[in-house]
Amino acid sequence: MTYTTVEIMGTKVAIHSFNTIIVGSGAAGLNAADQLYSHGQPDIAVVTNGLNMGTSLNTGSDKQTYYRLTMSGNTPDSPGEMANDLYSGGSMDGDIAAVEAASSARCYFRLVEIGVPFPHNRFGEYVGYKTDHDPRQRATSAGPLTSRYMTESLLKQVRGKAIPIFEGYHAIGILTDPAGSRALGILTINEKGLKDPNTRYVAFNSTNIIYATGGPAGIYQASVYPESQVGATGIALEAGVKGKNLTEWQYGIASLKFRWNLSGTYQQVLPSYVSVDSKGIEREFLQDYFDTPGQMLDAIFLKGYQWPFDPSKTFNQGSSLIDLLVHQETVLKNRRVYLDYTRNPSWGSKNGELDFSLLGTEAYEYLQQSGAQFGTPIQRLAAMNQPAIELYSRNGIDLHSERLEIAVCAQHNNGGLAGDIWWESNLAHFFPIGEANGTHGVYRPGGSALNSGQVGSLRAAQFIAHNYQMAPPSIKNFVKETRRQMEEKLRLGHIFTSSMHGPGNVDQIRTNLGERMTQVGSHIRSLDEISRAADAALAELSSLPETTQLASLEDLPAAFQNRDLLLCQYIYLKAMANYIETGGGSRGSYLVHDLKGELPKEGLPDVFRLRPNDKRFSSRIQEVQFCDGQCHFQWRQTKPLPTGEQWFETVWKDYRDGTVFR
Ligand SMILES: Cc1cc2nc3c(=O)[nH]c(=O)nc-3n(C[C@H](O)[C@H](O)[C@H](O)COP(=O)(O)OP(=O)(O)OC[C@H]3O[C@@H](n4cnc5c(N)ncnc54)[C@H](O)[C@@H]3O)c2cc1C
Repeated sequence: MTYTTVEIMGTKVAIHSFNTIIVGSGAAGLNAADQLYSHGQPDIAVVTNGLNMGTSLNTGSDKQTYYRLTMSGNTPDSPGEMANDLYSGGSMDGDIAAVEAASSARCYFRLVEIGVPFPHNRFGEYVGYKTDHDPRQRATSAGPLTSRYMTESLLKQVRGKAIPIFEGYHAIGILTDPAGSRALGILTINEKGLKDPNTRYVAFNSTNIIYATGGPAGIYQASVYPESQVGATGIALEAGVKGKNLTEWQYGIASLKFRWNLSGTYQQVLPSYVSVDSKGIEREFLQDYFDTPGQMLDAIFLKGYQWPFDPSKTFNQGSSLIDLLVHQETVLKNRRVYLDYTRNPSWGSKNGELDFSLLGTEAYEYLQQSGAQFGTPIQRLAAMNQPAIELYSRNGIDLHSERLEIAVCAQHNNGGLAGDIWWESNLAHFFPIGEANGTHGVYRPGGSALNSGQVGSLRAAQFIAHNYQMAPPSIKNFVKETRRQMEEKLRLGHIFTSSMHGPGNVDQIRTNLGERMTQVGSHIRSLDEISRAADAALAELSSLPETTQLASLEDLPAAFQNRDLLLCQYIYLKAMANYIETGGGSRGSYLVHDLKGELPKEGLPDVFRLRPNDKRFSSRIQEVQFCDGQCHFQWRQTKPLPTGEQWFETVWKDYRDGTVFR
């Protein structure tokens, strides 16, 4: 580690040099730091805008899932089968699926060893259960806060190794060589040095960047990501890092006041869905589109474990019809929608008592076996999952008396920045890992995001340890190569800080851009609207320096974030438009609107007419590179699952001479 200060446009910029910096301190970033150190590279640092921020530490769900190889009972499993199941999700590269399967057990046991309380039975078997898109029982969980436990345990490891942590540093630019072929470092804003321009900007000069900034959550307004997770994918795309499968997200029903997925028991107890208009007039609305109360109740029940919106489940009054109806109320009619646990859905009840005989076999037996065929939804929830009530109560919401406002929210980006089997991107020495990296395809098993974050961070660390141990460039060379890029950011910072008057509009800009994406770029997508929104995002991006007004210097990082988000949003919207123009249909977690398409249920508005899935797209991957202000798209076939390389002596030799790490 070395430290110095240089002058850029008359402003002092501190420069720290390391072999590797890890940007972001979620479960992926912290594991990368821990692994890299353990692999023999101590010249590293974690750079984060906040140790308490990000998705891993601040989110969870009914039973937050971790996906790995089956390791209990008599159920046979193998890395090959697991890879095949990951690959079958569509639009996923086979080589990456193979790596994620192969290292899943190793990464999982590492977490066990450092204290994540994954359960085992008295014989020591680490039991699992079946999650969505999982033909085995590969899922496990340490409870509702699995990713928090992971992050906390990993942070202890990082602290134990005395790895430096730069907290309160916001990455605002990825610095590359002038050709844009190799990453050289990052430029950040130091929160604690904001007041003085000479302490405000800090650069990191590093041989490698492990980029663990999470999903670009901030582009959406309706979001179940924690508020503290915004993402920084925009500046990576700006630096020329390729995006992959950017169209692929997961959306589902979540509460807004306290952001939480309403899956599992929250739906299985059959709450009422209530819509309220601007005058306060309320009505239950699901019943308008189901043929019988039994079908409506079954769909609510199924939403429990069919949580993400899936266009294929909108037909035949499937569970995803509910997401469409919630969207109709909240976005198309501009009403507010609530889940009410204090009363039974009136359709299907008599004098407030639910008629359980209306339920299909699955829901009926589930509630019967759970001893919950009685009372109101809150009483059933208390019987089946009291901690689910306490969770809301800890967050200031009493489900016994208060309704939960909900919307269909963005939850996870399956796509993201593109990397190879070592998670290195096309920009050499730049390794996007965790949710920032788009390893997944269209469908993915629940829990595979956390597995991917751990495997990717291990792989990046292994690769760096074996190939990229060299010291960073000299300060002179670093400044020579990156000066122009730093000047651009400083110039923008100067414009932002020169317009500091009044209440400021940074939050308003954020809200507006989020609303735009939620309205047109989430689970209901129409080419016309997306194209208009992309134009609007680009126009706002161009005028951002002039339109931004800071209330105080504390707004500066958020102003840079708005720029990151607008660029990111623009590229994501262009990717969605390109997918539809190329002929892509409804799949994964979104519906592609087509006026000539079928309606999932008669009587629904025409916006829900959908173009069917074209299965040919599941063997193709869309990639995009942003270059000279333009998005350049490329479609390619998915890479196949690897075969061979299993002969022990051959692999052993390759391992000994290091060939396997290339
Ligand atoms: C409600 C919900 C439920 C989920 N449930 C599951 C589940 O059951 N199973 C599963 O596998 N996955 C689940 N996921 C997804 C999973 O939790 C995330 O994909 C994962 O935690 C992301 O980890 P990460 O380390 O990549 O990023 P994060 O944990 O989001 O960390 C990102 C880090 O980058 C930092 N950062 C961001 N921008 C900057 C910047 N400009 N400068 C400096 N630092 C920056 C942040 O502060 C943070 O420290 C869920 C997600 C949500 C929202």
